[in-house]
Amino acid sequence: MMIETDVVIVGAGPVGLFQVFELGLLGIKAHVVDALAVPGGQCIELYPDKPIYDIPALPICTGRELTDNLLRQIEPFGAQFHLDQEVSAVTQIDEQYFQVLTAKGTFIRCRAVIVAAGLGAFQPRKVAVPNADVFEGKQIHYAVRNPQHYAGKDLVILGGGDSALDWALALQPVARSVVLVHRSSDFRAAPATVAKMRALCDAQQMQFMVGNITGLNAEGETLKSINVLGGDSVTRAVELDHLLAFYGLSPKLGPIAEWGLGIDRNQIQVDPEKFQSNVPGIYAVGDINTYPGKKKLILCGFHEAALAAFAIKSRLNPGEKVHLQYTTTSPIMHKRLGVSVPADTAG
Ligand code: FAD
Repeated sequence: MMIETDVVIVGAGPVGLFQVFELGLLGIKAHVVDALAVPGGQCIELYPDKPIYDIPALPICTGRELTDNLLRQIEPFGAQFHLDQEVSAVTQIDEQYFQVLTAKGTFIRCRAVIVAAGLGAFQPRKVAVPNADVFEGKQIHYAVRNPQHYAGKDLVILGGGDSALDWALALQPVARSVVLVHRSSDFRAAPATVAKMRALCDAQQMQFMVGNITGLNAEGETLKSINVLGGDSVTRAVELDHLLAFYGLSPKLGPIAEWGLGIDRNQIQVDPEKFQSNVPGIYAVGDINTYPGKKKLILCGFHEAALAAFAIKSRLNPGEKVHLQYTTTSPIMHKRLGVSVPADTAG
C-alpha cells in the first residue's frame, strides 16, 4: 500500500512529536514512524517515571507526562502513526519526492523526511551465546506477541527487570512450567512484582535460579536445553521448549547509516539554520543530529523542530515568503489548531 503525505518523521520521541506540532501550525501534514510500539522515545523507554525539570514552563514532569502532553498538543493535526516498524530505507525518487519504506512493508511517498531518530532504533539486547541467532524467532524470543503461543510449554525467562518479571507472572498460568534466570537475586523490577514472583516460587508454581546462560544444547534443529552457570559455579542444563530473553533495549543507528547522509560519530550532520542534512529535503532534529554547539536536550530539539518546519514550508512552496505568525493572534493557526478565540484577544 502506498501512502502520500507532505512529510515523514522518523522517530516518535519527544522531538519527533513536537515536530508534528510545528509542521501542523504551518499547515503541513505528517506521518510518524517508530520502531517502538508506543510513542515517547527515550522518555517512555528509559525513564517514564523520572522527573524532568528543564522543560520551559513545566517546572516538573515525568517522561510519561511529557509524552502524554505532547500527544495531546498534536491531536489537532491528526498525524498518522506507524508504530512497531523501523524505517528501513529512504529513497529519493526525484528532486521533489522521497519514498520511505518500513520493515512492515509500509510505503510512504513524501516531499521531505525529518529524521528524529534520537540514539537510533531501540532493539532488544540479544542472548550472547553461540548460535542464539539460529533459534531466534523459533525458540528464542525477545518479545511476546501472543501469550497463547506458549500454552502448555516449558519456558525459561532471562532477565531481572520489569519485562522479565511481568512476563514470568503473565505466562506462568498459561505455560507448563516457568523458570526465571537472573544473574543475582537483586531485581530492577517493581517490588510488588518481585514479591508475587517469590510467592509463586514458594508455592512451587514456578522456579527462580540465580545464574547466567552459557550455552545452548540442540538436537538436530531443535533447541532442547540451555546451560546455566549458577552462583555456586556449577553449570546445570535446564530443559525448555522456548527461551524468552528480556535484557532491555539498546539503541542502534541501524539502517539510517545507509541513507547516504553525512554522519559523524553516529550523528547526522546538519546546518544550524534549517537542520537539513547533506541531502536536500532530508532534515534531522533532536539527539540524532550534530552541528557546532549541539546539546542533546529536549528543549534544543524543540527549537530545531520549529526551524526545520519553516525550512520545509519554504521547500514545499518555493518562492513564497513564509511569514512568522503567533499562535496567540493568527486566525489561520487557530483554524489549524481547531480553537476559537474571543474577538478581543484574536487581534
Ligand atoms: P528519542 O527520544 O531517542 O526518540 C527517538 C525515536 O526514534 C525512538 O523512539 C526510536 O525508536 C526511533 N527510531 C530510531 N531509529 C528509527 C528508525 N530507523 N525507524 C523508526 N524509528 C526509529 N533531556 C532533557 O532535556 N532533560 C532531562 O532532564 C533529561 N533527562 C534524561 C534522563 C535519562 C535517564 C536519559 C536517558 C535521557 C534524558 N534526557 C533529558 C535526554 C532526552 O531524553 C533526549 O534528549 C530526548 O529523548 C531526545 O529526543 P528525540 O526525540 O530526539 O529522540
